[in-house]
Amino acid sequence: MLRKLIFALLTFACGSLTFAFPFLFFEPPELRILEKAYPDIVFEKEFDKEKNDWKILLKVPGIKENKILYWSEGRLLPEAELKNTEKYWSILYSYPKKLLDPADMTEEQKEKLKNFSSRGNRRNGAGTPMFFFDAVYDSSSRAKLEPHIRRTTFLGKPVNVHERIVEPLSRVEQKIKVSAAADAGVKDFTDGIKSADGYLWRIIDGTNRKSFHSLGIAVDILPKRLGGKEIFWSWARDKNPKGWMLTPLSKRWMPPQSVIEIFESEGFVWGGKWGIWDNMHFEYHPELILFNGL
Ligand SMILES: [Zn+2]
Repeated sequence: MLRKLIFALLTFACGSLTFAFPFLFFEPPELRILEKAYPDIVFEKEFDKEKNDWKILLKVPGIKENKILYWSEGRLLPEAELKNTEKYWSILYSYPKKLLDPADMTEEQKEKLKNFSSRGNRRNGAGTPMFFFDAVYDSSSRAKLEPHIRRTTFLGKPVNVHERIVEPLSRVEQKIKVSAAADAGVKDFTDGIKSADGYLWRIIDGTNRKSFHSLGIAVDILPKRLGGKEIFWSWARDKNPKGWMLTPLSKRWMPPQSVIEIFESEGFVWGGKWGIWDNMHFEYHPELILFNGL
């Protein structure tokens, strides 16, 4: 009898807890991915009943100003932007394990790429919200960001990057050097590098958005010779406006597969896997590597 009573009381207590504090049980699991990807950053979370969303106070080491963002299904928006959710994607998106072969693309996928890359869409369409990254990298303005930019080298080439990626990039370099000692393809790749270009404060061509080069967390690796291949969708589009997205993989310049995997193992995504392919481009997004289970 007593046991039954205790059980009934417990059930009632748990039920009312769930009712009164549903958020206790529904913290978005993707938020954990961000915490894992940026372990030195403190995420102070609180459920905002009025907004019916998680309110997150971000404390980034070395940055005095703490930022408050709302989860907004992975968009991480400041309060003022919560009315404009259609303008933003989630910062967590699908990044494939395997490179998509244009030969396997459906008509629908081709059409989508064509529309997505149209000038009107790139200017007015939705895009990656930068608020979370601006908080992490202190990049809301050029004046704030530039003290965080460091000059380093990558495989012998000078490159300017954000201080937060100096170490991951140097681990990538070490792994590539080890790989080059045993793999002629990787050795050819390293010998063939013309330049490594990182930080550059600029707005993405044909959009109103800052590029991740503006944060110093993207690096373009340009080879001395392209061997007659294409390296960037936009340059290919200039030559072939209707069929650039079908450029066969064999006609695109690519770093060796093991180099791409080394970058991914240290938290970088490769632009060659995007529909809007940018085969010279690597970008530091440890959250995407974790989110996609790579
Ligand atoms: Zn780039």
